[in-house]
Amino acid sequence: MQASSTPDFPIAILGAGFAGLGMGIQLKKAGILSFVIIEREDDVGGTWRDNTYPGCACDVPSDVYSYSFELNPDWSRAFSPWDEIRDYLRDCTDKYKLRDHMRLGVAVNEARFDEEAGFWNLSLSDGSTVTARAVVSGLGGLVDPAYPDIKGIHSFAGEVFHTARWNHDYDVAGKRVAVIGTGASAIQVVPEVAKEVAKLSVFQRTAAWVFPKRDYIVKESTKKRYRQFPFLQRAVRLIKYWMSEFVGPFVILDSPRLSGVFERISARHLDSSVVDATIREKLRPDFQFGCKRLLISDDYYPAFNRDNVELVTSGIEEIHANSIETADGVDHPIDALILATGYQLGLATAPFPIIGRDGRSLDDAWSDGAVAYKGVSVSGFPNWFIIMGPNTGPGHTSVLVYTEAQIRHALQAIRKMIAEDIKTVEVKQDVQDTYNTGLQKRMKHTVWTSGCSSWYLNEDGSNHSLYPGLAFEYVLRVRNFKPADYQIVPS
Ligand code: NAP
Repeated sequence: MQASSTPDFPIAILGAGFAGLGMGIQLKKAGILSFVIIEREDDVGGTWRDNTYPGCACDVPSDVYSYSFELNPDWSRAFSPWDEIRDYLRDCTDKYKLRDHMRLGVAVNEARFDEEAGFWNLSLSDGSTVTARAVVSGLGGLVDPAYPDIKGIHSFAGEVFHTARWNHDYDVAGKRVAVIGTGASAIQVVPEVAKEVAKLSVFQRTAAWVFPKRDYIVKESTKKRYRQFPFLQRAVRLIKYWMSEFVGPFVILDSPRLSGVFERISARHLDSSVVDATIREKLRPDFQFGCKRLLISDDYYPAFNRDNVELVTSGIEEIHANSIETADGVDHPIDALILATGYQLGLATAPFPIIGRDGRSLDDAWSDGAVAYKGVSVSGFPNWFIIMGPNTGPGHTSVLVYTEAQIRHALQAIRKMIAEDIKTVEVKQDVQDTYNTGLQKRMKHTVWTSGCSSWYLNEDGSNHSLYPGLAFEYVLRVRNFKPADYQIVPS
């Protein structure tokens, strides 16, 4: 199919991270060239453009955390650092000549569906409008930092920044620095910052389970072999993928017996890493393994053996101009404050007003929690496809397995629309409801609802973020775009 065959079928892709770029690549491979990728920042890369903090790296093996169709024999480590992943995405952008399709530095302010015409009208931040027959949203679920609402935080006179917005102009060397948070970002930044600063105070609200990472440098001979025989890397990828699927039930199901296996390994890791018994006990979690996101690190626990690192477990009472006061009455003097406090969940609300059929907004449709059919399509929002939508996050393996499955699904729908001159496809409400009722039933058996608090959960404790099963099962479910599940209106 040539470019000229699809001008009547403009497609807008939102976001230039793994999801948006992956969609663009697959459209190109299918010969569909009438698409534009709209990205609010000035570069591609998504989370791997935004997260540049010291120690930032992927905590999923790179052989699996990359496109299946674009293996990279040059990863320097088993778990590659952020800049290699960003460069990988830039290289993919160039290799597949996606830059001609891009509008960088413009945000979508509003999306409104024109029922009469069967088109989406997107109002952009530069005052222009894009009209698209189909929209593929690849905006990501963890993009905008969550800033904690701590008393006095705005009166802090020193430097304050979030891990996802690292201030590289500020030199932490020799300073007294505080890190708030002990999640996936914190456990990466703490060991690196500890090496530089005069004193590091880590403010822990909830102790986290940390599993050994076993990272390693990839030998030059291995890279050479991967280049010569790509099937070898493909085999390694497959093995690592199936290993993660095997681990799945241990970290997904609400089974103390299964979680106990990982708790024992992590506890041994803690016991053998931290010298001081008091600190060790403060670092010991009291929730079921897997309830919060799986964390892996080899250097987080040992950081607490350093003389310049302090673990603070008394709650933060107030932040003053030059210190943090804790509930035990201690004042911790600091020069800089690093917020490793996570993200606003992208699925909690629509990213901007999205107005579908009958003038209904996505926020309204999602007022009881984000729902979609197979995570991709939402009833009332024809021709709108979401990559990494509701209930499609993994708790145990690479998110890209899910991302690619959704891209294939959206592509099938788009190809059918083009081939059969279809004006709209919209998932049937009853089909979507049945799917989500089934998901939420299964959710009750997962560890995520076993009592801890996490970004996975909405305020009412419901989980609209993760998929309550294994990746291969999800992939099989979305493999075929089934026309019977949709209202299809011809042009
Ligand atoms: P997070 O998991 O949401 O952790 C936020 C941390 O900040 C938690 O320890 C939380 O404590 C603490 N916190 C939040 N508000 C606080 C307050 N007011 N006072 C004290 N402590 C507060 O955020 P994250 O570490 O940035 O990770 C978010 C997600 O990003 C991860 O789960 C993962 O999906 C992704 N990520 C991935 C990688 C990777 O390598 N692939 C790396 C980093 C992040 P509580 O636990 O008590 O709530």
